[in-house]
Amino acid sequence: MNIESLKLPEIKVPEHPRWPTLSEQEKQQLKQQIRDKLHQQKAVIVAHYYTDPELQALAEETGGCVADSLEMARFGTQQEAQTLVVCGVRFMGETSKILNPEKRVIMPDLNATCSLDEGCPADLFSTFCDAHPEHTVVVYANTSAEVKARSDWVVTSGIAMPIVEHLAAKGEKILWGPDRHLGSYVQRVTGADMLMWPGSCVVHEEFKAVALERIRRLHPDAAVLVHPESPENVIQQADVIGSTTALIKAVANMDNQEFIVATDGGIFYKMQQMAPEKTLIEAPTAGEGATCVSCAHCPWMGMNALQNLNQVLESGANQIEIDPGIREQAVIPIQRMLDFAAHQGIGMRNKGDA
Ligand code: SF4
Repeated sequence: MNIESLKLPEIKVPEHPRWPTLSEQEKQQLKQQIRDKLHQQKAVIVAHYYTDPELQALAEETGGCVADSLEMARFGTQQEAQTLVVCGVRFMGETSKILNPEKRVIMPDLNATCSLDEGCPADLFSTFCDAHPEHTVVVYANTSAEVKARSDWVVTSGIAMPIVEHLAAKGEKILWGPDRHLGSYVQRVTGADMLMWPGSCVVHEEFKAVALERIRRLHPDAAVLVHPESPENVIQQADVIGSTTALIKAVANMDNQEFIVATDGGIFYKMQQMAPEKTLIEAPTAGEGATCVSCAHCPWMGMNALQNLNQVLESGANQIEIDPGIREQAVIPIQRMLDFAAHQGIGMRNKGDA
């Protein structure tokens, strides 16, 4: 079967949510209400690096975590808290629920999704897999529970390389989904036989190679940090290619004073916290042929704010529920990845994903 014969959905990218500006006093009151509710409900905030810095700071201050998507899920398994408030996008809430089925998982907005997840509907993906039964199905964490349930392996960007190398060494052909840029990067490095699903991240796909060359000339001593969901001509200009966690570590550990960062701007909060003396420059999403739909800020991640976090703690709405049969299937490839990481001594805390 040719992938072109499948009618893939058009991705509708929402506008960036415009949250009302809060006065300092309103913000402090809201934060206090959230702290009180977290305490009363024995709940913790589990936030992604791409969310609003106010949320990231509150998560850390109240004993929650700020991390990549896999670590967000693993954090839940290590908590006594019975409620996990996942501030991120929907697949992150689902993965948390898959790994923590006995806990209540709620999210500020269930409409917060991801272009990779949206562009990979489970029925079409399953049809594609059925047409290629000789392939091992490897899917990125940025997928629905149903797509994970159809896979043999789930991977994060930090562990994709060793897992694909491992499968290729056994002579296995791989059906990869959904991020074609990350898949192509893994294929170029490993030489594995890979069939690609044509998904992409609307944020990382917008980084522009020509404009990046220009900005590099203006800052010749800056290190260029690129997430592998970016296009190949952007990846080619990188000094460091890696997951969110790897890019944060690069800022903290490299001697450079300036960094040009090609990933969602929400990550600047953690980078600046780790290395306050360093200068961070957003990689360009404008320039020739640019549309700048996301402008390096994921609109779905932007659906998380102090206001709706407080509301969801108040109402208890927006719970993540997973069909038990799907959960039973989806946990297998996730656990396979975790076991692989443990066996290989790969510290997932430092090898996170998107
Ligand atoms: S930044 Fe890209 S990969 Fe991450 S949630 Fe947004 S659309 Fe998905």
